Amino acid sequence: MLIHIKGGRIVDPTHKRDEIGDLWVRDEQIVAPPGGGAKADETVDASGLVVMAGGIDIHSHIAGGNVNTARLLLPEQHRSHARRAATPLSNAGWSTFETGCLYAEMGFTTVVEPAVAPHHALHAHLELADIPIIDKAILAILGNDDFVLGLLRSGAGASEIRDHVAWTLQTTRALGIKVINAGGVAAFKDNVRSFSFDDVVPFYGVTSRQIVKALQKAVHEIGVPHPLHVHCNNLGLPGNFETALTTIAAVEDLPLHLAHLQFYGYGQAGSQGFSSAAPRLAEAVNAAKNVTVDVGQVMFGQTVTISSDVSRQFSARGQARPNKYVIIDGDSNGGGIVPYEYRAGSFHNAVQFAVGLELFLLIDDPWRVFFTTDHPNGAPFTAYPEIFALLMDRDLRAQWLSRIPAEAAAMTTLPSLIREYSLYEIATMTRAAPASLLGLPDRGHLGVGGRADIALYRPGKSIAQMFRSAARVYKDGDLVVRDGAVTHYRFGRALQVAPNVDVKMRLRMKQYYDERYGLPSDFMRVPEGAVGRSEPFETVACIR
Ligand SMILES: [Zn+2]
Repeated sequence: MLIHIKGGRIVDPTHKRDEIGDLWVRDEQIVAPPGGGAKADETVDASGLVVMAGGIDIHSHIAGGNVNTARLLLPEQHRSHARRAATPLSNAGWSTFETGCLYAEMGFTTVVEPAVAPHHALHAHLELADIPIIDKAILAILGNDDFVLGLLRSGAGASEIRDHVAWTLQTTRALGIKVINAGGVAAFKDNVRSFSFDDVVPFYGVTSRQIVKALQKAVHEIGVPHPLHVHCNNLGLPGNFETALTTIAAVEDLPLHLAHLQFYGYGQAGSQGFSSAAPRLAEAVNAAKNVTVDVGQVMFGQTVTISSDVSRQFSARGQARPNKYVIIDGDSNGGGIVPYEYRAGSFHNAVQFAVGLELFLLIDDPWRVFFTTDHPNGAPFTAYPEIFALLMDRDLRAQWLSRIPAEAAAMTTLPSLIREYSLYEIATMTRAAPASLLGLPDRGHLGVGGRADIALYRPGKSIAQMFRSAARVYKDGDLVVRDGAVTHYRFGRALQVAPNVDVKMRLRMKQYYDERYGLPSDFMRVPEGAVGRSEPFETVACIR
C-alpha cells in the first residue's frame, strides 16, 4: 500500500523542517518519493493541514494497580463506552480501551506508563496490551525496595547495583527505571514523615542521595537510553523547590530526568506562605544541560491523584475531594489514591496552575522540557489540547489569569511572560525530543525510514480544537482516526530494553525470593506468550 500525503505543512524538528511538502508512506514506513511516475494507491490532499509525527507521552499513568484502585474508588467519576476487552477492569471507569482511543484522537501514538512496581509488571503489561492503537512502555520502580537498600547498606559495588537493575529491566520488560521519593517511602514504614535528599533511611542507613546516584549510574552504565526517571522527595510541600535544586545540583555529569517538576516549584513567600519558585527552578534547569524535566501541568477540575509516593499520599489524605481515599502500605513503594478537585478560585491551586505554565515558558530549550500533566495527577491527559493553546496564545493566558485570584497571580511571574510556543516547538516537545529521550529513533519524526505514525491537524480559530480532534492519524501506516474519531482498531506493542543479565545475579534473586517470600523469582517474569497477541514486545537497543 503506497500513500501520498500531498501538500501539507510538514513540521518535523528532527529534520529541521517546517515547510509545505509531501509525504510518502509504504506499508508501515515513511519512504522516499518513488521515482518513475509510480502511482500511489491513495492520495490524501493535505493542503491547509499541519502534518506531524505521532505524539509521544513520556509520563502518563494509564495502567497498573494504582490506576485500577482509582477506578474502584471513584466509579461515579467515569463513564465507560463498555466495549469488549480482556483484563477484568479494562471496561471499568475510564476504560483501558478508551485510553487508546482518546490518545489516538489527539494524534498521540506512543505512551509511557511511568510507575510499575516490578511485582505488578505482568498485570500492567496485560492491561497495556488491551489498550488499542498506541504503542506503550513501562518504567519499573526501584529505590525503596529491600533488595536495593540492602545492597547499598552492605556497601555493594556499582557492578552489583548494575546487575540488579539489568535483571529488573529484563524481568519486567521495562523501558527504563523510575525512583519515587527515594528512601522516603521506605522511611515512612518507620513512621518518618518528613524526608529530604540527605536524610537517612532507618534500618538501612542510606540517604536519598546515595540511592538516586547509585541508580542513575547503573542505568547509565547499562546503556538504557532513558536516564533514571526521578520523582523527588517532598512533593507538593511549600518550600520544596530547594529539594529539586539539591537534586539538580547532585546530577553532575550524568543524565537525569526529573518528573512533574511543577509539583516542586513552590516557595514560601507571601502572607499564605505559598508562592511560585518556578523562575529559580527554570534557571537551574537551563544551566544543567544533563537534566531533562517534564512539567505535570495542573488544570482546574475534578481528578484523582494516584502515586506510589505513599508517604506523600498519606499526608494529602485530608484534602481528598470527594472525601474518600485508599492508602496501601504495600511491598516496596505501596500506593495512595486521593481524589482531588483543582479549583480556579483556590489560591493554592491557582499558584500551582501558574507554576506549570511558568516552567514551560521559562525553560528555554523545548528539547529538555516535556509535556505532561502527570495524568491524572495534575489533570487528565484529555486536557492537553487546552494546555497547547495556553502555551501558544498569551491572550488566552490573560483570559485564564483573570479567572484566578489576583493575590495568587501576584505570587507568580506568569502575568509578565509573553513567550508563545510555535507549532515547531510543540512538535519538538511532544515528538522529536521524547523519541530522543526514550531512545526511539524509529519515531517522533517524518524522515525516510521512520515508522509511519503520523498526525494531520486542521488549523482553525481554536488551537485546542485543532489538537483535540486530529483530521487524520496513521499508526504504522494504518489510518486509525478521521475527523477526530477512531475509525479502525489495531493493537500496538510494548517497547522494552533487554540488557544482558549476569547469571550470578539471576541465581542470587532466586535465592532472595525463595528465602524472603517462599516464591520463585520467576513469578514476576513477564513471559511473551502470556500477553496473547502476536509480537507483543519490541526491543529498543541499549546505547553501549
Ligand atoms: Zn507520575
